[in-house]
Amino acid sequence: MRFKSLLYISAAAVALSLLPLSAARPAAQPASAIPAPEQYFGFKIGADGELARYPKILEYFQLLAKQTNRVKYGELGKTTMGNSYPLLRISSPENLAKFDRLVEINRRLADPRGLSEAEAQKLAMEGRPFYFLYATIHSTEVSNGQAIINIVHRLATDSSAQVKEILDNSVVLMVPSQNPDGQVLVIDHWYKTKGTPFARVYPDLYHKYVGHDDNRDWFMFTQKETRMNIEFVQNKYKPIITHDMHQQGGNGARIFVPPFTEPFDPNMHPLLRIEQGTVGQAMAHALLSEGKEGVAWEDAYDMWSPARQYMVYHGQPRILTEIANSNLADPVKSADGKPIGWQDSRAHFPVPYTKNTWTLGQQVDYGVTVAFAGMTHVAKYGHEWLMNFYRVNRDMANGMVGPYAYVVSADQRDNYGLYEMLDILQFGDVEIHRATAAFSANGKQYPAGSFVIKTAQPTGAFANTMLSRQDYPDLRLFPGGPPEPPYDVTGHTLWMLTGVNVDAVAKLFDAPLELVKKVAPMTAAIAAKPKGAYLIGPESYGTFKMVSQLQKANVPVYRAAKAFDKFAPGTWVIPSTAASQPIVEKYGKDLGIAVSGVDTPPSVDGERLKPNTKVGLYKAAGNMPAGWQMWMLEQYGINHEVMKSQDFAGDLNAKYDVIILPSGTTKPRIMNGLNAKTNDPAEWSWAFGIGEQGWKNLKSFVENGGTLLAVGSAVETARDLLDLPIEKALPQAPPRFGGQGAATAAAPPGANAEASLRDAFSSPARLMQTLRDRVADPASLFYCPGSLLNNEFDPNNPVAWGMPAAWPVFFDDDQAYRLRPGFGIETQVVSRYPRQNVLASGWLLGEEYLKDQANILSFKIGKGTVVTYGSQIDFRAQPRATWKLIFNAIFHGPATPITAAQMTKAASAATNDQR
Ligand SMILES: [Zn+2]
Repeated sequence: MRFKSLLYISAAAVALSLLPLSAARPAAQPASAIPAPEQYFGFKIGADGELARYPKILEYFQLLAKQTNRVKYGELGKTTMGNSYPLLRISSPENLAKFDRLVEINRRLADPRGLSEAEAQKLAMEGRPFYFLYATIHSTEVSNGQAIINIVHRLATDSSAQVKEILDNSVVLMVPSQNPDGQVLVIDHWYKTKGTPFARVYPDLYHKYVGHDDNRDWFMFTQKETRMNIEFVQNKYKPIITHDMHQQGGNGARIFVPPFTEPFDPNMHPLLRIEQGTVGQAMAHALLSEGKEGVAWEDAYDMWSPARQYMVYHGQPRILTEIANSNLADPVKSADGKPIGWQDSRAHFPVPYTKNTWTLGQQVDYGVTVAFAGMTHVAKYGHEWLMNFYRVNRDMANGMVGPYAYVVSADQRDNYGLYEMLDILQFGDVEIHRATAAFSANGKQYPAGSFVIKTAQPTGAFANTMLSRQDYPDLRLFPGGPPEPPYDVTGHTLWMLTGVNVDAVAKLFDAPLELVKKVAPMTAAIAAKPKGAYLIGPESYGTFKMVSQLQKANVPVYRAAKAFDKFAPGTWVIPSTAASQPIVEKYGKDLGIAVSGVDTPPSVDGERLKPNTKVGLYKAAGNMPAGWQMWMLEQYGINHEVMKSQDFAGDLNAKYDVIILPSGTTKPRIMNGLNAKTNDPAEWSWAFGIGEQGWKNLKSFVENGGTLLAVGSAVETARDLLDLPIEKALPQAPPRFGGQGAATAAAPPGANAEASLRDAFSSPARLMQTLRDRVADPASLFYCPGSLLNNEFDPNNPVAWGMPAAWPVFFDDDQAYRLRPGFGIETQVVSRYPRQNVLASGWLLGEEYLKDQANILSFKIGKGTVVTYGSQIDFRAQPRATWKLIFNAIFHGPATPITAAQMTKAASAATNDQR
């Protein structure tokens, strides 16, 4: 028990003895000309029905920066939709004047290799802890974005001892909104619908691509806002604590503060858990001292997934606060006049809330209280905070977690997957080494150019959590009882997601290594202007970036359907022409993939891609899987359009070659869509239902030659539409918190899915009852809440071209299928679950149900093609290696089969045409 010493006691002693005398410093001067928020915005922040708008909030902060010497304002960049994303730096003028030196100290403590405890003590005395606060990553959780105004105003103007202590002894970094686009959309919608019959909650994704999943992006770093936060705040300034302000469902506690509940990622330093508890309890203390009731801790929120907690792998505790929702800016009142929320006093919820109303103003006040409690704790014990930051990073640098190293051979199937994996790790501040010569480790030979990631480094926790297999603990509500739902998914092993083979090597080995300064695409041989055609193996998912550009340039593209020479089925055959050469050369280099050249195109059966293959993406309002799909299709330059419900009234074949139904596209959702009475048709008719005629037209689309792809829960929709000869192989799984699939299906479109699920579990007793109702016999249950599961592939099937014989797929409360007899439908199994060892990473109960069952299936129906993906192989765009299964299907469905003779001729004819 290395960490048993009480933080409070040691911190207090140090704080008393080491705090510099504040009287010796120049006082921070508030400027009297600063308008109070009420004057500036025209209403008291938190007033019923009123929400300050984002652009005006930024103007106010810029005014504060101009008129006081406590606040610095700077824009870090633009968001996805072009809004400003600023950072505020708030401290005493003296601290701000030596800001660069303070950052230098943070950076030294963040990488304490070679730094003695005594030297660290000196730096900690000179330094100031940085408290990083950001609000409203979830845009319908409006109160925190408002509370921020009062927090900044108080820090900028107040002359109290508390504020002086914060300013003198710490530096506050603040991102006023982690999703400005959503804040603008939600608040604009709020005012636009005032006095109308329309619903006041913005009904679509409040982040253009990922909606609520913007808080699931903290390990793959896909979105601009995530990347700005990491690159320009976390990695640059090295704060010692991060406070992330949220809201939760309205029927439970008024606020959640840390500590969190089980399980914790075992890679997280135990000291951080203690710090989380310490700060959380300081917040609870402040709230209850001020008479703010209804505080809970150790509730639903766990610490398992890196998707929500970048900071804990970078030396800092995660401080999550979750304030109960009202109706956006409108108050809630209990229908029966009784107090709102939980009324059972418990150890982790000592004081139930006693009023029967709950307002935005109260939410704002709770937010201000917790922010000041957190900042005060850090300022009061600043020296100890900096020392703990040093200790956590030192222990990681000394190899606290993981094997000695992860070795990544330079010899991979997919160089682009390798590049993406390394790039993600490096963006997360992980050090990567490259071998300058061949070496051996654990009895295995590795070629020169192979990569080594040692876990003994300050960010070893991040490296280990990303590169190890997850073994989620088998948590039950009672022994032998139903599973305790995890807050989010349970498996995230990065090499499985990116299709890279990685070896964990437990013991020290010798290899000639150099540090990789900046990960670059691999170097691979690219044929220079061959006479006949380029040949590219089907292994890399990155190749689709090239293919979409070749399509744009009207270059004919072919695929070989069978193996030939050293090439696997699905190999790309691209005529070497003036139009194709620059594209092939550029993307071959950018992707780092090998490109061969031949004088004569191979004599092998295959297919010719349809020129300009066009995809229609069905995106129900508020559907996150569709948003992620849209992001991926854009990233890869695929010719696509988000469909409007009006499209379904006409000839779908005339407009699209392929239609994708993402997970969450249930039949009721596509048929009914958004309610036409509660959503303004002028703005939302595109998201209304397609109706019976649209349903018929979608069926005709397939029969007339279209390609339909259905993922996750949309497989049931496709089965209904076309009477597919399959049936479900799995029993119904119990529900869980925060689950994307379940959440989007259960919640009304656009509602805060997390909050509504939390409401469903408003007390432990209710949760238990729900689980008992749904799981008759715990021994026979099936449960897989977001894991990586092994699949076997048929690489001769065009949908699986380029896949290895076996690789993990993502499975998030999804379904597996059994074939049943059907007439006139040709069915092919693209992938299935193995007979043993189904679980690759995460948590799986009831493995027996999955064994030997089908996952991905391909059907010929009429002139068309349907591909069903029972599991979400595209989940949040994280499993890149299996996204290939969607790209393959997009281009295969509309392609024209050609014979070996035609392949040779067609390619050479095209070559001649283009020269
Ligand atoms: Zn939230």
